[in-house]
Amino acid sequence: MIDRTPGFATLAIHAGAQPDPTTGARATPIYQTTSFVFEDVDHAASLFGLQTFGNIYTRIGNPTNAVLEERVAALEGGTAGLAVASGHAAQVLAFHCMMKPGDEFVAAKMLYGGSINQFNHSFKNFGWNVVWADPDDLPTFEYGISERTKAIFIESIANPGGVITDIEAVAAIAKKAGVPLIVDNTLATPFLCRPIDYGADVVVHSLTKFLGGHGNSIGGLIVDAGTFDWSRGGRYPMLSEPRPEYHGIVLHETFGNFAFAIACRVLSLRDIGPALSPFNAFLILNGIETLPLRMQRHSDNAQAVAEWLVKHPKIAWVSYPGLPGDRYHALAKKYVPKGAGAVFTFGLKGGFAAGVKLVSNVKLFSHLANIGDTRSLIIHPASTTHKQLSDAQKVQAGAGPDVVRLSIGLEDMADIIADLEQGLAD
Ligand SMILES: *Cc1c(COP(=O)(O)O)cnc(C)c1O
Repeated sequence: MIDRTPGFATLAIHAGAQPDPTTGARATPIYQTTSFVFEDVDHAASLFGLQTFGNIYTRIGNPTNAVLEERVAALEGGTAGLAVASGHAAQVLAFHCMMKPGDEFVAAKMLYGGSINQFNHSFKNFGWNVVWADPDDLPTFEYGISERTKAIFIESIANPGGVITDIEAVAAIAKKAGVPLIVDNTLATPFLCRPIDYGADVVVHSLTKFLGGHGNSIGGLIVDAGTFDWSRGGRYPMLSEPRPEYHGIVLHETFGNFAFAIACRVLSLRDIGPALSPFNAFLILNGIETLPLRMQRHSDNAQAVAEWLVKHPKIAWVSYPGLPGDRYHALAKKYVPKGAGAVFTFGLKGGFAAGVKLVSNVKLFSHLANIGDTRSLIIHPASTTHKQLSDAQKVQAGAGPDVVRLSIGLEDMADIIADLEQGLAD
């Protein structure tokens, strides 16, 4: 690309991409094709045997998706990536390469609600057992480890409450236990935090949120840090034992520090099948080109809104790690020094009725169940996503009757605050 080590903004625009070799197209084309013609029979055989890298069929790989994979891996400081259909698909595929029925993993109990459901219910059908730990009480990660533990899973900034996890401390526990640390870096993005710098072995993303950034495409991605020894002790047989369908290749031996990304592709994605549409990859690549500009603006706007809400007479509390009094402020200074992201919660003194009134009154904010859009978003979990739970369960899940969640967009800060002001007015 250039003769010096490129900076983050340069990588966000250029990593993985080059002018199209046949047409010269500068933007990455959408290779909207299911399959790719072989040069000859030998070429086909070497592709299928993993002796040559190349395109076969879009379920397993696609040139548009490959640019996205290389770009996110570069931004995270990993060795390789794998793009898939959604953030949840990324989680299923990453665990599929590590877990056998009866195995366990330790996960932080403060996570995106969809991940809590996935781990508690669907994963149990595969015989994959989650053991919950408390990111505010780090020894609980260690207590959760057993002979059958295959990974530790945390979020860097946890959705929705603005919990900052001490990644370095959890990485040390994972290292001692001889298991990889998987970090969901969706809310921070590599612009605000790079978990691999603090010891993460695998990073997963929902591209749907800030990486795509425009609320138009679902996608997910797995980044291999290249740091974990998959062969030690034979605990990860998918990587350390010969694969019958690939002429007895041992993936870790053959692919070294990007073997995990390869395993996720040629075993998990191949067989489970949640491939990303190249059209979505194209839209997400466009989003990533402006990631540094957008994340700074998201964080700056969120900081201003949080500071304004804290002083508002109808607000009981604000949970945003960028606020000096916040319990996660010290961790935020270490892990997200440029800003604490766009998503946070606050409590209304007026409880449930006040929450319903606010989401009904706002005009600029969209009332919906997503985060990470250019637009400002609002949701009152107690009357929507968490409505079925009992009051006690709601409080436990951080979705008490008074709680409102915001995902602050890129509009003018004054307009965002003015909308909340009129929404809160009597
Ligand atoms: C949205 C989200 C997911 C799931 O991603 P999808 O793309 O919706 O499947 C996982 N983790 C976090 C933190 C999220 O916000």
